[in-house]
Amino acid sequence: MSERKILVTSALPYANGQIHIGHLVEYIQTDVWVRFQKLRGNRCLYFCADDTHGAAITIAADKKKITPEEFIAAVSQDHQKDFADFGIEFDNYGSTNTPETFRFCDEIWKAIRKAGLVVEKEIEQYYDPEAKRFLADRYIRGTCPKCGKTDQYGDNCECGATYSATDLIDPKSAISGTTPELRKSKHLFVEVEKLHEFLADWVEHSGALQNEVANFLKGQFLCDPLYAWDVSRPAPYFGFEIPDSPGNYWYVWFDAPIGYIGSTLQWCQKHGENIEDWWKNPDVEIHHFIGKDICYFHTLFWPAMLKMAGFTLPRKVHIHGFLTVDGEKMSKSKGTFVLARTYLNHLDPAYLRYFFASKTSSHVDDLDLNLAEMEAKVNADLVGNIVNIASRTAKFANLTGLAEVYPDDGGLFAQAVAQSETIAEAFEQCDYGKALRSILECGFRANKYIEEMAPWTLRKQWAALDKDPQADPAAKDELFARLRDSVTVGLNLFRQIVVYLSPILPTLARQTEELLGSPITSWSDVEKPLVGSNVNEYKYMMTRVPKEGIEAMIEETKQLEEASRVQAGEEQVQADAAGVCDDQWKDSGQMLIDEPMSETITIDDFTKVDLRVGRIVQAEQVKEARKLLKLKISLGGGHTRQVFAGIKAAYPEPEKLVGRLVIFVANSQPRQMKFGLSEGMVVASGPGGPDVFLTFPDEGAKPGMRLH
Ligand SMILES: [Zn+2]
Repeated sequence: MSERKILVTSALPYANGQIHIGHLVEYIQTDVWVRFQKLRGNRCLYFCADDTHGAAITIAADKKKITPEEFIAAVSQDHQKDFADFGIEFDNYGSTNTPETFRFCDEIWKAIRKAGLVVEKEIEQYYDPEAKRFLADRYIRGTCPKCGKTDQYGDNCECGATYSATDLIDPKSAISGTTPELRKSKHLFVEVEKLHEFLADWVEHSGALQNEVANFLKGQFLCDPLYAWDVSRPAPYFGFEIPDSPGNYWYVWFDAPIGYIGSTLQWCQKHGENIEDWWKNPDVEIHHFIGKDICYFHTLFWPAMLKMAGFTLPRKVHIHGFLTVDGEKMSKSKGTFVLARTYLNHLDPAYLRYFFASKTSSHVDDLDLNLAEMEAKVNADLVGNIVNIASRTAKFANLTGLAEVYPDDGGLFAQAVAQSETIAEAFEQCDYGKALRSILECGFRANKYIEEMAPWTLRKQWAALDKDPQADPAAKDELFARLRDSVTVGLNLFRQIVVYLSPILPTLARQTEELLGSPITSWSDVEKPLVGSNVNEYKYMMTRVPKEGIEAMIEETKQLEEASRVQAGEEQVQADAAGVCDDQWKDSGQMLIDEPMSETITIDDFTKVDLRVGRIVQAEQVKEARKLLKLKISLGGGHTRQVFAGIKAAYPEPEKLVGRLVIFVANSQPRQMKFGLSEGMVVASGPGGPDVFLTFPDEGAKPGMRLH
């Protein structure tokens, strides 16, 4: 097989927050893949950078009374330290705020202009005359026009209502507290619709996307004309001023992915390579790893930009789901919103790398971190199975060294070699869970062998003979040889497993290299046993997961939350809460699309819809239907309704929905569907496909209650 040239990226973390364990799902997934490719002998480079632009950065820097440049420099240090301590190894870690990134923003922008895709539109937006800046919805607070609650955001209220900022009663700037005024400004839009045919073809035929993602894009976006993307922001804005539109800046989402190319250029400059060889070379495979929340940008807007400017399109966009902890969204108050640093203060990063890997598949599913499960899995798989092989054999190796010739092991070594391509294919497909199942089998076989050989007994018997001057020297030699053989087999089987595991557990690989005095440099290291060498003193490799470490981590997380509350008052807590979804700060998906609000309705119009609290009492997949789940909803008092809801992709395990409350439209006209009668609708949000979110009433609500 000839060497592949592979360029890999992870999404750029936003500079307005610290790395938390939710982020690490992606960086660990990517790092494992990159290490695997390097081990396979491919030329693989891994690039990332801090995403540094946008109003949120200026505001955060102002609060600390430092410049945005100082602010992002400090954050970048923290981010890089967290990544390094989790064993995530980039070939270059840059920043979007660099001349290198600017160069490609400019190049791509010129290409889009030249292709006639840029149009100017006037936008009316709130402006803070004191802070002298336009206000994104996040920075406007006011009274909810629906329920009258004060101090709500510019686009949504705690009551669940969404509205446009101009509907807010008594709006105030969250920055200065003054009343904002409506001002018109010019924004630049990219008319991506002109590339509709190209994008539809790319989504359908390139093979770059997981099936569920391609279907989602087809069903959600490509079936309609694509909205023009608003890619500029008026001054003041922390970012790059658009050269041919003075006073306007590229919106943070325009330059974020271009940071991949900027980071590559920094690496090229350090290594005397040519950027075109990496980004304008069809032989290079470009692989992006991203979360499902930013799928839209990377699968429609980004390919369009690359195409226009003559860059290589991604070979594959690997999209993963979100992290939940114990089945729920990460929560600060429950102590499950764990910062990377907090984790590192209490637990070995290898645990999380291993656990996340064991849960990683090639699909977009969410990944659940159940801490008790992590503990059990690491203790059983790593400590009890894998490391146990070394600890039970290496201590005798001081005495025996490794045999000159690899002994007869009943075919165990060959069996592990034979699994090589199956395991490699699973890694290639990001199906690390599958790879690990295969690797653990090798471990079980090795342990069984050691159990049978019982080197500890051989060692005792040999020692007894060694002390006995009357002992038969031949019998003594025979025992010694058996001990040496069992140690040689045990340690070689262990090393094979460690080679396979090394993309996931680089530290274990380094420890094994040290123990056996032999570097692990290639996947094919599994094929050739080590013989005739000495073995160094065995040092412990991994301990069981300390329960108190988990507890201390949760406790510290709760305290951090408490401290931020006390220290900075309510305002800071709200800022942090918004930081939960870092990407929201830069406005996610919907904000780029000028999706209009619906027409105003009267209260009477609203009350025509009979919304009820319902409880899901049955939920099952409709096998023949691509999108549907069949739900039985209880409305209390023995009333139930059957509903077919298009939420299959979002809730692949419908049984988990049973027992949960939903909001139910009780008076919609029943619909006869292919699979039966649908008697109502459940309320959900989100664009569709895997991104559908059922809306749950708060605790205490009872089935049958009416919403008003
Ligand atoms: Zn409200």
